[in-house]
Formats: sequence, C-alpha cells, structure tokens
Amino acid sequence: MSVARNTKRQPSMGLFDKIFKSIKINQTESGKYLTEAEIEERNKELMVKFDQVKNLFSLSLDIYNLEYCQCAYPRFQQIIGIDCSNTANSFKCYETDLLISMSKVYFDTTGSDLTDEVKNEKWICKKCGSTYEYGWSDFSIYVERQKLKLINLMVQLKGKPLVIPIPLCLGLAGHSYPSRSEITRVDFVEFESYMTEK
Ligand SMILES: [Zn+2]
Repeated sequence: MSVARNTKRQPSMGLFDKIFKSIKINQTESGKYLTEAEIEERNKELMVKFDQVKNLFSLSLDIYNLEYCQCAYPRFQQIIGIDCSNTANSFKCYETDLLISMSKVYFDTTGSDLTDEVKNEKWICKKCGSTYEYGWSDFSIYVERQKLKLINLMVQLKGKPLVIPIPLCLGLAGHSYPSRSEITRVDFVEFESYMTEK
C-alpha cells in the first residue's frame, strides 16, 4: 500500500493525544456508522479501558523485565508486531501503539538505514541487545500508526506461547480491517491474563 508522506508531521508525544486523534472515526469494525451520541458514548468507554490497559502494560513490562526482558516474551513481540502494512488494510491497533510507546524506555534508539516510513529508527534492547526496526507513518488524517519489528533476537524465548486470533481489548481503528481469524476482541480480564503470562 502507499504510505502518505508528510515529513513535517512528527509522532505525538502524549499517549492520550494519540488516541484522541483516532476516535474521530465514526465507523465501527463491522462497518456500522455511529451517531454523535454513540460516538461520545464509545469515546467515554474507550478512555476508561485505555487507562486500564495502560496500567496493565506498565505491570506487564515490569514482569517481563524482572528476570529477563520484554524480548523474551512472544506475546510482547506479537502485540508490538501488529502492522497494517503487512496486509492491504489501513488501521491502527491501540494496544500496539500504547505498548510500543510505553516500552521505549527499555531501548536505546539510533538512526536506521531504512526509509520506508515517515520516521525510521533502530531500537536496541538495553538489557539483551536485541534489535528492532521502528517506524511511524500517517496513512491519512485519521490514521497514524507506529510499528516495531524484531530484526535480531539476542535472548532465548521464555514466555508463554501465542494465541491466534490475537486477543485485543481496545482493538483497532481505521478504514479497513483484518479478518476475525487474525484478530479477536476479548474483555479486560482475559487480556490481562494473556499479557501478564497467567
Ligand atoms: Zn531484550
């Protein structure tokens, strides 16, 4: 797919700004258009869940870094790796955006040789030295997304195995979505168990 190029725009620093940018979208994943009142209701629910997931990711990152690091956990890799440019879709995943933003403190960042995104960086795990390629692009005025792709794993995997379809609590926003065989919606309790390796 073609990626919109606008080098003047930079990723927003505030996590809440990011989510607010996306909730202007007035169409659900099933294609239904929402009324103003429905949008307001959905946004309220989303903000509450957003805070819950933010606290959960903080806890998850603590757990991952207790003995090993986030790189040793397949479920971390799975959530940060959801990327609409892998398919012919245009969406962002709230969990992916949030987990990448919150895990940045565990990485050193440096210049990348890649130029496929509006912003490219190389991320190196401070603990194990695994390398990742970070990218940020804005596909439209409503959808911008970050990606973090594992390039070289330097630690043995320790975490629990992946589940497919990928369970998400906040889910996706955008213009076109992957199928339910790839991504599914679960409640917070189930997502919490998944991310904290229960
Ligand atoms: Zn690591």
